[in-house]
Amino acid sequence: MAAGYGSSRYGEAEGARPSVARCPETRWSWVEIDRGALRSNVRAYKKLLGRNTKMMCVVKADAYGHGAAVCAPIMASAGADAFAVATVQEGIELREYVDKPILLLSQPPQESIPDLLAYGIMPSVYTIEFALAFGEYAANAGAQGRYHLALDTGMTRIGVRYQDAVDFRRAVDFHSGLVCEGTFTHFATADVVGDWDWELQRAHFDEAVANLREAGFDPGLVHCDNTPSVVLHSDTHYDMVRVGVGLYGLHPCDASEPLVDLKPVMSVRARVTRAQYPPVGAGVSYGMTYRVPKSSIQIATVPLGYADGYSRTLSNKADVIVAGQRHHQVGNVCMDQFMFAVDVNENRSYAPSAPVEEGDLVTIMGADGRERISAEELAELRGTINYEVVCDFGLRLEKVYV
Ligand SMILES: *Cc1c(COP(=O)(O)O)cnc(C)c1O
Repeated sequence: MAAGYGSSRYGEAEGARPSVARCPETRWSWVEIDRGALRSNVRAYKKLLGRNTKMMCVVKADAYGHGAAVCAPIMASAGADAFAVATVQEGIELREYVDKPILLLSQPPQESIPDLLAYGIMPSVYTIEFALAFGEYAANAGAQGRYHLALDTGMTRIGVRYQDAVDFRRAVDFHSGLVCEGTFTHFATADVVGDWDWELQRAHFDEAVANLREAGFDPGLVHCDNTPSVVLHSDTHYDMVRVGVGLYGLHPCDASEPLVDLKPVMSVRARVTRAQYPPVGAGVSYGMTYRVPKSSIQIATVPLGYADGYSRTLSNKADVIVAGQRHHQVGNVCMDQFMFAVDVNENRSYAPSAPVEEGDLVTIMGADGRERISAEELAELRGTINYEVVCDFGLRLEKVYV
């Protein structure tokens, strides 16, 4: 082994060196969640809002893979007024940790109505059948069926057609068990600057809300902005905004970057489980899509795979960082493990890489020394968006909160 490595392996590299002391006991791979960064991002969005605009924090998909049980209370203490989830099950779990309003961003099966009321989860509603069943159950239980009316203003996903908002309220409002707590829509193109489709959706939403008021219906909290819309369209904050991806330190589009200062919350780390010098020509991983080209190549194994959110489409494309230096991932990514190559040739014209050893810290996403692998870098290689990258890492890896 070359001399001079070890404690001085970072050389001139600057930046914080991550610590392996944070490794969980049962597996040499984990997701690291920076609570301070999360708090700072919540405050950054809160600062963009006027006094009369509430902040609903979107914690669906286990807080975009970051762990809702820990993240939601941090958000509550940093200024969240309400929370949004995607499934009834997410709402039931979240209720253990927060006492603020919880909005379900979809209309669930009628069978879940008892749970909605028991756990104080407000559904998004857009069919008359569901509304009346909800009101009926609530009235019989001596409770109030609080819901938000979802409007389709152009995304063609869920909601009452915006033209039918008044008819919908006329059809359900007779029911004493129902209370419309809010009226909302969702933009399909809020991340595009100067987009006509956004303008049209906004006009449809404004029209529907005005029609409701004119017909004598109280729309409750009026809300439409998601993360990109909050920064790009301050004139549509209305009574509440629904912020998701930005809370986790991820920009939904390039245009938002100069407008709000965010810190990435999630890093993904592991430790090398094996490092060796295979013979020249040796194949690596299923299908042997990589063969060791020369004797100075060391192959290291990482105990993290596509079932942990490191997509197989990253095979032979992504980099990892060890001690502030980038290395190429090689061979097909397996379900639970992958390999990377280190060229330790000391005769190269540039500085050789330090050999890695079993137990060395590997950064799959996040910063180490001067290097950083962002969710956007991995998303680009996978042909997807940063949202999906963090959701996937949250699926199986243990989370370590720092
Ligand atoms: C997911 C979601 C959001 C949050 O979107 P971000 O782009 O992450 O801010 C807001 N509203 C609805 C209806 C959603 O489904």
